[in-house]
Amino acid sequence: MDISKKAKQNIFFMWLLVVPIGTFLVYRFASSKPIEWDLYFYYVVLALLTTIFPFFIAGATMILVQWVNLALFLNYGILAELVAMQLCLIPLIYHMKINKETRYKLYYSSFMFFVISVACGSFVIWLGYDIGTLVIKDVVIYGSIYAFLSIILNHVLLYVRQVATGLKPDFFTKDFAWDVICTMITLPFGISLFFLESYVGAIAFVLLGVPFLMITLLIRMYNDSEKVNADLNKASEFGHELAERMTGKEIIDMFIERIANMFPMNSAYIVDNINNQFVILRAIEDGVNKEIKFSHEDIKHSLAGNGYKKGYPILYNKQSEWIHMKPPFLTLDMQSVMCVPIYRNQTIEGVLILASREKHAFQAYQLKIVHLLCSYFAVSVEKANYVREAVAKSEICELTKIHNYRYLDRQIDIDMKKLSAGVYHSLSLIMLDIDKFKEVNDSYGHHSGNLILQEFAQIIKAEIGPNGTVGRYGGEEFVVILPNYTKLQAMRIAEQLRLKIEQTPFIVQLDLADVSRDEIIFITASIGVSSAPDDSEEGMSLIRNADRALYIGAKQAGRNRVAEYVK
Ligand code: GH3
Ligand code: MG
Ligand code: MG
Repeated sequence: MDISKKAKQNIFFMWLLVVPIGTFLVYRFASSKPIEWDLYFYYVVLALLTTIFPFFIAGATMILVQWVNLALFLNYGILAELVAMQLCLIPLIYHMKINKETRYKLYYSSFMFFVISVACGSFVIWLGYDIGTLVIKDVVIYGSIYAFLSIILNHVLLYVRQVATGLKPDFFTKDFAWDVICTMITLPFGISLFFLESYVGAIAFVLLGVPFLMITLLIRMYNDSEKVNADLNKASEFGHELAERMTGKEIIDMFIERIANMFPMNSAYIVDNINNQFVILRAIEDGVNKEIKFSHEDIKHSLAGNGYKKGYPILYNKQSEWIHMKPPFLTLDMQSVMCVPIYRNQTIEGVLILASREKHAFQAYQLKIVHLLCSYFAVSVEKANYVREAVAKSEICELTKIHNYRYLDRQIDIDMKKLSAGVYHSLSLIMLDIDKFKEVNDSYGHHSGNLILQEFAQIIKAEIGPNGTVGRYGGEEFVVILPNYTKLQAMRIAEQLRLKIEQTPFIVQLDLADVSRDEIIFITASIGVSSAPDDSEEGMSLIRNADRALYIGAKQAGRNRVAEYVK
């Protein structure tokens, strides 16, 4: 919650007006019992210990200090309880990660505690509670009223604060339910502490305090392992999802986005090492993708270069631990940093840097999980590279090393889409078929035929250059796709190709008995041309029309000629 400076000031003045003066008034006017200072000291120590070791349930931090405070109130009245509660704010400064900006939260908590202490205490006394009484029925009834009233009032104040900041919260939240459950646990403890202390004195703090703190500790440990489990589950799910991504870009996008959501961080950077040069492959700062560039040298001499050199994950808990090797991309408001190497096939490829403005934001186990995710990431990228290579390979003709039918098919679809999207004004297709190629094979052998096909492919490719896509469509049939070429322009290109082929001497090997000798032959090709949007509206008909023009217009008309498709 971000609130204005004015609102922060108001909270401070409200605190100043209510808490110190209020405490004095309670001291002067509220009924209480004389305090036994040694016992009071033990109460406060127990309250502080309970606050220092909170535990976490369902994402909420639970501090069960109420039981000690209930006993304090039952024993000595409002003031004793109120002061102890305010003292418990000291460990809370750490738990709530209070800094200069968020100091107002402390004032607000102090104010809330004060109001709850005074209101609940006064109400119960007004109802008839006689401070320090050992009448069991009274203690149970008034104690219960006090405890439940405290949490209700606590939630009313939280509710009011949220409404005041413009939110529309639910009153009966999960937190509220947890507080009710916690009160049901702490209430008997509080009443027991009060009685036991009244009858046996200081030993009561050991008899009840030790088991209570031990239970808290056990729940904490259990909760920590639950958190590790939950994060590991998320990590494995994430690993599977990564593996399903097919392109490097998809993988990087997903990796950085999910990492950013999984850990309490403000910025993340993937630093890659390409040919011994450090570059920032991807950066995300406060949820926004950033394009950033820094020199190799600057990155090398920072904690990123250091992490790359060291080769193991490193955790920095605060700025003073890394400031002497500050990377150019980290701002000075950052504190905690994780630097995790990215390995592929036992060689380090880069490092992942995660940074948070909080000190001690990352835990050791999280570093391990990020390390694991980095290996998933590297493996997925590698797999995507294999897939890319395999796809590229499957789209190349083995013999001529130019694109094959599969590639052409895909490319025609892509270009047709661009045509309908208005990226191209027209799209032409040239189909070539070598004339009487069977005879070439029959006369000079299949090997010679193959050599001609190879050479033929190179000639067309050289003629077309970057203006279009050339591929082998079938046996001795080739296709040229020409984006942004009208039919007339394509016809001109086709004629150029025809001439070029006609004039090119092809070398074939003539095997005669034991000697083989080279011979020069000439070949011709028949060519068909079709265009979109003139002749066709989809890829298949563009090919079919060029094919038809080739057979009817060129082959049947005597070969070695160019024909356009006519409807
Ligand atoms: P047309 O002028 O009517 O096109 O006659 P053609 O002989 O070229 O046509 P046809 O379709 O009858 O024969 C095509 C020949 O192309 C048959 C086959 O031997 C040859 N061919 C197809 N693929 C290859 C190849 O990969 N290598 C070799 N050497 N020849 C091939
Ligand atoms: Mg043919
Ligand atoms: Mg042919």
